[in-house]
Amino acid sequence: MEIDYTNIKVIGFDADDTLWVNETYFRDAELEFSKLMAAYETANKIDQELFKRQIENLPLYGYGIKGFILSMVEIALELSNNSIGNETIAAILNLGKAMLNKPVELLDGVEEVLKTLSQDYRLIVVTKGDLLDQERKLEKSGLLKYFHHIEVVSDKQEANYSNLLNHLDIKPSEFLMIGNSLKSDILPLINIKAQAIHVPFHTTWIHEQVVPSKPEHQKFNTIHSLLEVLPILNKRLKTQKNDL
Ligand SMILES: [Mg+2]
Repeated sequence: MEIDYTNIKVIGFDADDTLWVNETYFRDAELEFSKLMAAYETANKIDQELFKRQIENLPLYGYGIKGFILSMVEIALELSNNSIGNETIAAILNLGKAMLNKPVELLDGVEEVLKTLSQDYRLIVVTKGDLLDQERKLEKSGLLKYFHHIEVVSDKQEANYSNLLNHLDIKPSEFLMIGNSLKSDILPLINIKAQAIHVPFHTTWIHEQVVPSKPEHQKFNTIHSLLEVLPILNKRLKTQKNDL
């Protein structure tokens, strides 16, 4: 499908599961949680209850690891009729700390792509979640030098993007967003007449899953590795031998 990207001046990148691994750690923690709670419920039921509680708590806790862990504590108390042991609460809190202390694992081609694109475009990060945690990951990633601006938003809906573009004085037609979530990184951009490129990650949180309509689907490209962004934008890796 031919989409014209010649107007693009600024490229926004989602962070979690676009630049680095994230969702996998949540899945692993859920598995650990269901083991801790195995005496009270089936793994399936525990997963469902935890998911429901996270969604209910989003307006209060926001996205991120801390809200996820608080929701686990709530569910542990509930499923055990308030009889859960202190050791289990401590184990849940440790699950969260282990997540927050994880090293940052960059996805394929991320550094090369950012290095190449930063020579022709202004690059920004648009991520939702916990401010401190996102700042920590950006710092650890070693990628900060490629970005002109970092924006940690509480949500990624059309209004959040419109406000951000206004604030940074970027026209929607000059903005391309790249990310793994159709719901958060792609469809809101299509709706405000900016561009978007979808790079799915192998696992997506249920809350982020949507099915785009056919007309929506025709307005963005889907790629399987960030490296494929370069040919789409008519760029070549600057690190290739023939460029030296
Ligand atoms: Mg993401």
